[in-house]
Amino acid sequence: MREHQNGFHVAFVGNPNCGKTTLFNAITGSKLKVANWPGVTVEKKEGSVEFEDEKLILIDTPGIYSLSTYTIEEKVTRNCILDDDIEVIVNVVDASSLERNLYLTLQLLELGKPIVMALNMMDVVEERGMEIDLHRLPEMLCDIPIVPVSAIKKRGLDILLHAIIHHKEAVTLGQVFSYSDDIEDKISKLEVIMQAKYPNHSSARWHAIKFLEDDEEVYEEHPVDVSGVVNKSYSRQIIQSKYSYIDDIIKECLFNKSAKEAKTDKIDALLTHPVLGIFCFLLIMAFVFFLTFTLGDFIKGFLEMFLEYFSNAVSSLLSFASVAGWLQSLIVDGIIAGVGGILTFLPNIIILFIALAILEDSGYMSRVAYVMDGIMGKLGLSGKAFLPMILGFGCTVPAIMATRALETPKDRRRTMLITPFMSCSARLPIYVLLSGMFFGKWAPLVSFSMYVLGILVALLTAFVANVFDKKKNCNNLLIELPEYKRPNLRSIRVYVWNKVKDYLTKAGTTIFIASIIVWFVLNLGPHGFVTEASGSFAALAAKFIAPVLKPCGLNMWEIVVALFAGISAKEVVVTSFTVLFSNNLEGAGLLESIKAVYPSFTSANALSLMVFCLLYTPCLATIATIKKESESWKFTSSAMVFQIAVAYALSAIVYNIAAIFF
Ligand code: GDP
Ligand code: MG
Repeated sequence: MREHQNGFHVAFVGNPNCGKTTLFNAITGSKLKVANWPGVTVEKKEGSVEFEDEKLILIDTPGIYSLSTYTIEEKVTRNCILDDDIEVIVNVVDASSLERNLYLTLQLLELGKPIVMALNMMDVVEERGMEIDLHRLPEMLCDIPIVPVSAIKKRGLDILLHAIIHHKEAVTLGQVFSYSDDIEDKISKLEVIMQAKYPNHSSARWHAIKFLEDDEEVYEEHPVDVSGVVNKSYSRQIIQSKYSYIDDIIKECLFNKSAKEAKTDKIDALLTHPVLGIFCFLLIMAFVFFLTFTLGDFIKGFLEMFLEYFSNAVSSLLSFASVAGWLQSLIVDGIIAGVGGILTFLPNIIILFIALAILEDSGYMSRVAYVMDGIMGKLGLSGKAFLPMILGFGCTVPAIMATRALETPKDRRRTMLITPFMSCSARLPIYVLLSGMFFGKWAPLVSFSMYVLGILVALLTAFVANVFDKKKNCNNLLIELPEYKRPNLRSIRVYVWNKVKDYLTKAGTTIFIASIIVWFVLNLGPHGFVTEASGSFAALAAKFIAPVLKPCGLNMWEIVVALFAGISAKEVVVTSFTVLFSNNLEGAGLLESIKAVYPSFTSANALSLMVFCLLYTPCLATIATIKKESESWKFTSSAMVFQIAVAYALSAIVYNIAAIFF
């Protein structure tokens, strides 16, 4: 049997943020990204599980509100559902906001495919003292199996799987309730036309309704002549009938629905206030920085001590084994200093990610996007564009992918252009290192200002792009606010661990290789190995370019080398810096050696360097992602040129202003 060998396909479909990915992870044991805001899952993901001698291929899809498609991610889901390989659709529903979720449910039911409802977030429902009538609810929804679950507490999962397996042969007619007589009459006529032309088609009723709603894609996929029946779009009546049926369901099935809302409203009055909300956001971010610096640096101190000890030990061991001098230098000064140096920043990074995880999972980050909605609207972007930008605080690569949630290609490109200006976590080590060396107790504030500067530059860019845009678009798409939740320890652990793993992998691959390459270009010259790095290939090339950076106060060949190397991954700027100067990561030592080479290198230069690192070309992985998502080399390369130009201009301005003060 085909099914038995390949497994049968089950798609998880539901509104954004209803817990599809959490459920998918809980069942398959994967660790896909989960966050308390819509638009995180942008591609469909597959996983499999064996249950009761059956193999199930589960598919996690991007969230959708309806089966009418506007964005790329919505298309992904719609195509996936309409695909005939899908044998059972699992409609994941957030039971704590049943009303909002049922609109999609009604549409899915009209498809006439086997559907099982996973009534998720039952823990929230119970905690709030809400009650759902689990006998009446399925009665009103074509008698589909409805299984209460809690993805996060892993409750009800086996029953859900059981229901899925046993429901795969079920036949539903696709009629949940009746529209007005007039519309029902047209539906029957259209069904006949559909069946005549496509006898094997399973979703005749759904298609008939879509014809009445004047859905272009359905016309394209299944062209039939409906001119005799459809003379105008009936979409308004159809939508209204659905909502009034949902009202009936809520009246009959949901009890005690009020409770907790008052508290949320009070908090939101502050956090989503147009002015105070932004102020709160900055305050919270500042606090995160304060933590990163104080606590993070404290732990980092121990790691540095350990690294020095380790490096000395390896050094003596290698000398003892009489390993060649150049190899010793490669291992100790190149690899250990480079990769080890990056690893000492782990505490800072972990604290940043714990903070981001808590802010995301609690539902706070969507408030930030909501607050930004007004501002973004004036910039010709929807508030939705701010969500990818927030993801950019972690890593730019998923942030660029998250732009798929935006409606138009123009919005997407604009957001892709500005998202790299958000300080990703790889830039944190640069700020920590430089601000720690040059700004003493002001270090957290200086680093924080880099984050703010990044946001401002991003917004300004969007503003300018909008001014020059002749066909302005008006975006009035409001972001929906998810409920506040107590952050879940497991989700946070998974989130942070994933990020730490990425960071370690990067240290072991990209940064490892970059360290070796940097070491070689610094130690090889036209006449073989050089004793002074300034005679190396890298130095020769960099000295040629360095004068260009004079207006920014960065006309030092070491900096040019570091900036170039940093394109592989931004942390490599720090790595190269350490390898270049002294191989000693301890703040004071490095500072002294920089001062020894460049006595005039002051805080102004350091500030300018931070600004440059913040704004210039993103790392290779990001560039590749931009290319992939925009499908255009032209756009990608012009974005890079633009970013370098902005970095150059701004660091020159910052340098010249700062030079007056320092
Ligand atoms: P998706 O957009 O549908 O994939 O939703 P996610 O899986 O990303 O989850 C959205 C948010 O809901 C996350 O913060 C999850 O931790 C949370 N969540 C998911 N399932 C449950 C649940 O059963 N109970 C509670 N309390 N929270 C849940
Ligand atoms: Mg998801």
